[in-house]
Amino acid sequence: MLSVLDAEAKILDLATLPQASEQIERLDLHLAQGRVLAETVVSPLDVPHWDNSAMDGYAVRYADVQAATAGPSATLTVIETIPAGQSPTQAVGPGQAARIFTGSMMPMGADTVVMQEMTERQAAQVRILETPEPGQFVRRQGSFYQAGHPLLFPGISLNGPEIAVLASAQYAQVRVYRQPRVAILSTGNELVQPGTPLQPGQLVDSNQYALAALVHRAGGIPMPLGIIPDQPQVLRDAIATALSQADLILSSGGVSVGDYDYVDQILADLGATLHIRAVAVKPGKPLTVATFPSGTAGATSLYFGLPGNPVSALVCFWRFVEPALRKQSGLGQGWAPGFVPATTSQPLRAGGRRETYVWGHLRMTPQGYSFEQAGGSHSSGNLVNLAGTNGLAVVPVGTTLIPAHEPVQVMMVGDLRSA
Ligand code: AMP
Ligand code: MG
Repeated sequence: MLSVLDAEAKILDLATLPQASEQIERLDLHLAQGRVLAETVVSPLDVPHWDNSAMDGYAVRYADVQAATAGPSATLTVIETIPAGQSPTQAVGPGQAARIFTGSMMPMGADTVVMQEMTERQAAQVRILETPEPGQFVRRQGSFYQAGHPLLFPGISLNGPEIAVLASAQYAQVRVYRQPRVAILSTGNELVQPGTPLQPGQLVDSNQYALAALVHRAGGIPMPLGIIPDQPQVLRDAIATALSQADLILSSGGVSVGDYDYVDQILADLGATLHIRAVAVKPGKPLTVATFPSGTAGATSLYFGLPGNPVSALVCFWRFVEPALRKQSGLGQGWAPGFVPATTSQPLRAGGRRETYVWGHLRMTPQGYSFEQAGGSHSSGNLVNLAGTNGLAVVPVGTTLIPAHEPVQVMMVGDLRSA
């Protein structure tokens, strides 16, 4: 059995960054939120685009005001008003000033802005009450950025700040990586869809829905392919279909050692290479990771055979699938899971032989992060206490108890809340 770290390294090695041009699409900027940039962004414009004022006030020649007291030498004639968005029509000459506002273009001749609060206006004259610094409150053209230099690089996630930069660089559209398509199959004769009255022995397929939600959240496009009975031919056809449509395939169930666990054999029959068959993790031990030589767009397709137990399936998704999915979505970095140091509110117990993930609630408190184990049974078949889970506390191999109020590493799997 592989350790969690070895499994993670192997999986991240198998997850390939998008390369082919068909893996890139152009989107209107409004639709780019959360997507991954696939081009180097260069602006044709300097920022600021031209010399402009950082204040409401008066554009002056520093030479005229450097000895400003309240005396006559600091009284200037206002020759025009320059609202933001208009060009000055005259140059400012000796003894002159122009009324100016934040963002207004600086007129020729002027080199300094005196803020309004340091002036006194009398009809066409303005008195400068205090000597400014030379060049004060002028935002020089190109002082923040010079046209033609790279501004943003491929592999970053686009959110408000990056989209602001794109807009100001004149990008009405932007090239982003196509989102990985993720096929989801639930295997098991016992499974039925939600809403179906249960016959004895049947169970509702929750994994299909949970995994689709997590795929969506991680930036993939979920393709739910439904419930597949434990019949080798049907399962084989379903996997072949998934392979023709998806970049990544997730199945749940059928990877253990039971009589109806056919997934690994079918993968081998279909020509896949099996890289992982079990990981020393709890919940989750049976985890199959395989690759097919060519999936959509000629790229390698990655297959995850997740355990069927609902908690095991989710923990394996968070710990192993999500980083691979994020890497395949083109992110240059930041795909590895985030761990934070927290203090556990309760004692955390584990068997000591496998790295154990205890699900629960991670909160920010004035003293730091605090972890509270979910109440109720921690059987991997119990999903009723999963709701609200945003952290998985890690009990390392060799540790059977982390006492209450002791430090623990917690993997973040949801939004952080404050206490
Ligand atoms: P398996 O790995 O196929 O032996 O399944 C292990 C356990 O997980 C069994 O109790 C299954 O009934 C349950 N299970 C399998 N698939 C799902 C699913 N899609 N949704 C909920 N439970 C499942
Ligand atoms: Mg099964």
